[in-house]
Amino acid sequence: MHKTLIAALLAGASLAASAADTELNLYSARHYQTDDALYRNFEKATGIKINRIEAQEDALLERIRNEGASSPADVFITVDATRLAKADELGLFAPVKSAVLESRIPAHLRTADWFAFSTRARVIVYNKIAIQGADVQTYEQLADPKLRKQVCVRSGMHPYNLSLGAAMIAHEGEAKTEAWARGLVANFARAPKGGDTDQIKAVAAGECGVALANSYYVARMMRSTQADDRRAIEAVGVVWPNQQSWGTHINVSGGGMLKHAPHKEAAVKFLEYLASDEAQIHFADGNNEWPTVTGVKVRNPALERLGPFKADTLEIGRTSRGAAAAQRIFDRAGWR
Ligand code: FE
Repeated sequence: MHKTLIAALLAGASLAASAADTELNLYSARHYQTDDALYRNFEKATGIKINRIEAQEDALLERIRNEGASSPADVFITVDATRLAKADELGLFAPVKSAVLESRIPAHLRTADWFAFSTRARVIVYNKIAIQGADVQTYEQLADPKLRKQVCVRSGMHPYNLSLGAAMIAHEGEAKTEAWARGLVANFARAPKGGDTDQIKAVAAGECGVALANSYYVARMMRSTQADDRRAIEAVGVVWPNQQSWGTHINVSGGGMLKHAPHKEAAVKFLEYLASDEAQIHFADGNNEWPTVTGVKVRNPALERLGPFKADTLEIGRTSRGAAAAQRIFDRAGWR
């Protein structure tokens, strides 16, 4: 090939490259070490540099709002459907049309504005000595007077419980959800305090008979290097709730492109990358979760031990939209 032709082609190529985005500003409320490898692989594959801003969810949302139209944020990722819904309600996301995302992410795990990239389940854990497994097979059973002074659970204001409440409203209606919340509160072994791991440990120690916890906390304790954690988890039974009805409540980790994203092309590329097989494994397994893309398998001994289950297939947008109603119900029921 003629030298000048090659030079012209190279010039053309570099021109095209400079027109494309070379960086991406990612606002992330996920703090998992395995995410580092994920981002490096994206940078290697695309040549797009990721600038990561990590902070707590509410601080990030506040920052994006304050930055307004001049916000450098391209993509926001976080955990929990109600938090993603909050960003959506604040009008922070831009709708994304992507054939890749639409074909990869199941319809019930995405909205027009944001996408779920991993799922976690809200499970029941019970003390194997104090409680009969048959008595704690459903969320509804936790409100049964049979379990007086047995239930430990974190605050009713926490998004994990609000998402569960929203799902219950969608399946059973507000009246039944309120009766459930009242029964649950009546069964409390103690006033809500601490996180999910604290509830699991309290169950293991016999301070309460049964608790609700996200699946990854159970898996994390199973895989812990601390003998105390592993001993505690051996003392509890783990139940996939509601297998005979609407299935175990599912929450998600996910993200979307922001309305004022300066690098929209890179943002869509990044979201599509998160739906790739390789990224799905990292994104989900980093926190002992499951990929949302069908057919992608993580090799995680704790998740394998927990086994398969029937998950609720309620549309995730609906789950998150019901959170405000769930909060009003929990307030009335006295679930602080
Ligand atoms: Fe958590």
